[in-house]
Amino acid sequence: MSQLEKLRDETERLSLELLQLLNRRAECTLAIAREKQRLGLPIRDPWREAKLLDHIAEANQGPLDEPSVRALFRATIDACVALMEDRRWKGLRVGGPGPRVVINVRGHVIGGPDPVYIAGPCSVESEEQVNEAARRLAAMGVGFFRGGAFKPRTSPYAFQGLGEQGLKLLRDAGHRYGLATITEATSPENAPIVAEYADIIQIGARNMYNYDLLRAVGKTGKPILLKRGLSASLDEWLHAAEYISLAGCDKIILCERGIRGFGRETRATLDLSIVPLALAASRLPVVVDVSHAAGRRDILAPLARAAFGIGAHGVMIEVHPDPDVALSDAEQQLSLDDFAALQRTVREELNRTASALAAQSSNPAHAADSREVAR
Ligand code: PEP
Ligand code: MN
Repeated sequence: MSQLEKLRDETERLSLELLQLLNRRAECTLAIAREKQRLGLPIRDPWREAKLLDHIAEANQGPLDEPSVRALFRATIDACVALMEDRRWKGLRVGGPGPRVVINVRGHVIGGPDPVYIAGPCSVESEEQVNEAARRLAAMGVGFFRGGAFKPRTSPYAFQGLGEQGLKLLRDAGHRYGLATITEATSPENAPIVAEYADIIQIGARNMYNYDLLRAVGKTGKPILLKRGLSASLDEWLHAAEYISLAGCDKIILCERGIRGFGRETRATLDLSIVPLALAASRLPVVVDVSHAAGRRDILAPLARAAFGIGAHGVMIEVHPDPDVALSDAEQQLSLDDFAALQRTVREELNRTASALAAQSSNPAHAADSREVAR
C-alpha cells in the first residue's frame, strides 16, 4: 500500500468515526428536546448556542482556523435543531405518521391526487351576485365555492359582510349548482351559526392565533380551512392546526396566503417555500390563496401555476361577476371570464412545461445541449 493510499484510508476511517460521533450528538439533542418539551421550554436557545460556539473556538488547537471551526459547528447545531423540530412535529396529531388527510365534501375532494380550485367572491353581496358566480364556476368545473359573510376588515368603516343572511345566500347558491361552500367564522360566538350553513369553515389569517376560535370551530364537526397568519412560522401554523384537531376535527386544510414583506408591489409576499415544508411536516392538504397574497389581478395566473407546480392540493382565487364594483377587495378579484382565461393559461403552461421536460429527458442529445447552455 502506497503512502497516499494509507493516508486516504486514514481519512476515511476518521470520517466514519466523526459520523458516529455526530449521530451520538444528534441522539443527545433529541433527548434534550424531549426533556425541554416536558418542562415546557422552547427548543431553540440562541444564547446557549453562541456560548457553546465560543467555547469550542477557544478549545481549538488547529490546524483548522477559527472561522472554519465555527462554521462546522454552526452547521452541526443547525442540523440537530432541525432534527429536534422535525421530530416534534411528527409527534403532533396533524404531523406524521399516516396517510395524507383527504377531505371529500359533496363529492368534491381536496387532498387527493387531483389539484383543485377554490373560487368565489371576497364577500357575499347579493343573491344575484352569488348565483351568477356559482352557476358559471360550476360550469367551469370548479367544486369549491368561497364567499365571506362575516368579514374581518382592516377598517371598521369598511363593509363588514351580510352575516347570517350572507351565509344563507352562499349556501343556497352553492348547493343549487352542486358546489361545496367555504366561508369564514370570525369569533367563537359566530362559529356555530357558520357551521350550520357552511360545508367548510375558514379561519382567516388575522385569526390564526385566536385559540378560543380554533377550539370552537374544531368542535363543530365541519372541515376547517386554516389560513396562515401574516407573520406565522410553520411551527405556529402547525400548532394552530393542532388546537383544531384536539378539539375534535381532523379534517383540516392548511392555506398559505402570503406573509408580511416590505415590498409595496404586492399586498403580501407569497411564501411558496412553506408549501413543500408544510406538506413534509404534516399530513394535511395544503392550498395556496394567490389573491390575498398578490392583492392584484395581473399576476394570479403565474402564481397559480407555481403553486400547482410545487404540489399544492389547491389554489384559492377571488372571482366576482363585476369586480370593479365589489364591496371588498375590488382590485384583486377576477371577472368570471378572466378566471376562465386563467384556468386555460395555467393548464396550457403546465402542459407546455411538462412536454418540454419530457422531450428533453427522452432525447439525450438535447439533454446534453441543455447542459452546455446551463454551464
Ligand atoms: C378571505 O379569504 O376572505 C380573507 C379575509 O383572507 P385572509 O384571512 O387571508 O386575509
Ligand atoms: Mn378578500
